Amino acid sequence: MTIQNYINGNFQNPISNAWIDNYNPSNGEIYGQIPNSSTKDVEQAYQSAKSAFKSWSQTSLEERSRVLIRISELLEDQLDRFAKAESKDNGKPVALAKTVDIPRAASNFRFFGNAITQFASESHESVGHNAMNYTLRQPIGVVGCISPWNLPLYLFTWKIAPALAAGNCVVAKPSEITPMTAYLLGDICNEAGLPKGVLNIVHGLGSTTGQAIVEHPDIKAISFTGGTATGAHIARVAAPMFKKLSLELGGKNPNIIFADCDYDDMLNTTVRSSFANQGQICLCGSRIFVEATIYDKFKIDFVERVKRLKVGHPSDSDTDIGALVSQPHLEKVKDYIRIAQEEDGKVLCGGQEVNLKNFENGYYLEPTVIEVPTDECRVNQEEIFGPVVTLMPFHTEEEVLQMANKVKYGLSATLWTNDLKRTMRMSSQLQAGIVWVNTWMMRDLRTPFGGVKASGVGREGGFEALRFFTEPKNVCIKY
Ligand code: NAD
Repeated sequence: MTIQNYINGNFQNPISNAWIDNYNPSNGEIYGQIPNSSTKDVEQAYQSAKSAFKSWSQTSLEERSRVLIRISELLEDQLDRFAKAESKDNGKPVALAKTVDIPRAASNFRFFGNAITQFASESHESVGHNAMNYTLRQPIGVVGCISPWNLPLYLFTWKIAPALAAGNCVVAKPSEITPMTAYLLGDICNEAGLPKGVLNIVHGLGSTTGQAIVEHPDIKAISFTGGTATGAHIARVAAPMFKKLSLELGGKNPNIIFADCDYDDMLNTTVRSSFANQGQICLCGSRIFVEATIYDKFKIDFVERVKRLKVGHPSDSDTDIGALVSQPHLEKVKDYIRIAQEEDGKVLCGGQEVNLKNFENGYYLEPTVIEVPTDECRVNQEEIFGPVVTLMPFHTEEEVLQMANKVKYGLSATLWTNDLKRTMRMSSQLQAGIVWVNTWMMRDLRTPFGGVKASGVGREGGFEALRFFTEPKNVCIKY
């Protein structure tokens, strides 16, 4: 299947006629072509967005909201089609795409369609000076949204929906590794009555298409989700142009388990927080720290549960772990398993590639648990972003806090305990943008989302996203 760019409401080939192969991770086969768009395509997308801006930015909130909610409804109507497409492109189980990715993409449009009608700005009366200040929150203009491959439509729409709701026009690029559902979204936008040019989707490599978006002098804000190294590069390119930047980057999140937790709940959730989406979620708790008094019991129970996870074809309804996203990514994850062993890590289960009958060229890997001798080893410090977790005991709160914080990342942390005072102490001291206590990945779209340290700058979600996608202007009136 050939994917095209979506510019000014039309589907078109890249101007240079350059294409990239699109792989199906479940069988390793090329199943389509996607544009490798150049600066010329990005310029065309920008011009189309620029032309649409005046009208869209002045469109009433009710109308913008109506269109976004309509997109959400159409996505829900086509849940099956989108879930299958997402699974084929990414390797994730269809069941996961059906229950998480596509419903959450639909929620993004619905949520921001509603949120914009509640978004208000501040006023400040300068008492004693006969003056009144109020703040306008104006759309920025044309903004760029760039997203990764792990939760393709979910993260793509997480950026686009607030950008559009706030009255901006968008030039967006999904990951070249998983472009399919972003492509399908174009049709839905047309059907929902999104005016031409308000959203433009260009496909291609990060180093060409993505770079062209970031370098474009008149795309004034960039919302990016992806790797930390890419984020640093984008920041360097964008800084001299004083662009507004939101960077959601990598993570190496601690999952801290105290003996007083609700054990069964913790165990069930920890299996999920370790291996959901083949461990390819930036929020996965990839470093598991367990209080020494329950360490041996946990180790036995956890490994037993992980061994029961079924690695299988993404379309099979009983598959727990589908295919990794690409061959290079599979190689990277396998490399880390090798590095762990070189650093005296002990593989407690998994570690091997899986040869699925009839799908021998797919990118399957067993879920892997590695007991590490120290928190300073590479597998405990570097983001692997696959079905691999490390395991270590701890004795005291201070010790585990220090280990949890001793990485360059700070996206999320999970804490399992029923001790209220400890919860309060630890959640305030953990260096993370999000702390989950006795749960994982429970999302309320009103909350600020993002990381500290090398996990990013800025927050998305709720009004934070609407603030990012608007420019505040103070008006001071003397009377
Ligand atoms: P990546 O950085 O390789 O690519 C992300 C996107 O950026 C892709 O669309 C890519 O084409 C584009 N890109 C690459 N180079 C670019 C450049 N020079 N200019 C502009 N765009 C460029 O990341 P990935 O491998 O797709 O995704 C995995 C990473 O994303 C992991 O590190 C993961 O932790 C992170 N992630 C973070 C969050 C979060 O919310 N913090 C969520 C999901 C994934």
